[in-house]
Amino acid sequence: MEKTLVLIKPDAVERNVIGEIITFYEKNNLKVTNLKMLKASKDTAERHYEEHKGRPYFEELISYITRSPLCALVIEGEDAIAKVREINGSTDPEKASKNTIRGNFALSKTENSVHASDSRENAEREINIWFETESTSNFSIGNLLLGNV
Ligand code: ADP
Ligand code: MG
Repeated sequence: MEKTLVLIKPDAVERNVIGEIITFYEKNNLKVTNLKMLKASKDTAERHYEEHKGRPYFEELISYITRSPLCALVIEGEDAIAKVREINGSTDPEKASKNTIRGNFALSKTENSVHASDSRENAEREINIWFETESTSNFSIGNLLLGNV
């Protein structure tokens, strides 16, 4: 079992497709184990995208990701990290297959609807950024029923 961090980015939340996007993961046998909606602070956005600092698109990316609410999710399943990136599709919507989330919803290279961690190390780092104060370990239906908040 692996955990990965997904963001449903502002362009998707603005266009009311949160449910459709989550359905892609759930239909692929992946489980949403944590989720929340929030407007990201500049500090959180810069920590999340720290490896992109200095790239020509960085400022545009930070201003986009902080402009309106996003959803942060932890998704769990076998090979979840690779599977979720496959379901998301290519960064550039013009290259994304039609059966992927980005192929359906992304507007541009920047406004591409979803984020997913690209390695175990980054998944752990990113889950700690977005779910800093929540428990994301040992998920079970029992925790959900107990309202583990
Ligand atoms: P991915 O989200 O597919 O892992 P990257 O890690 O390369 O892609 O980039 C992070 C995010 O930065 C992208 O999802 C996209 O929102 C933005 N981005 C990446 N490359 C570009 C680019 N060339 N022009 C504009 N925005 C970009
Ligand atoms: Mg990336």
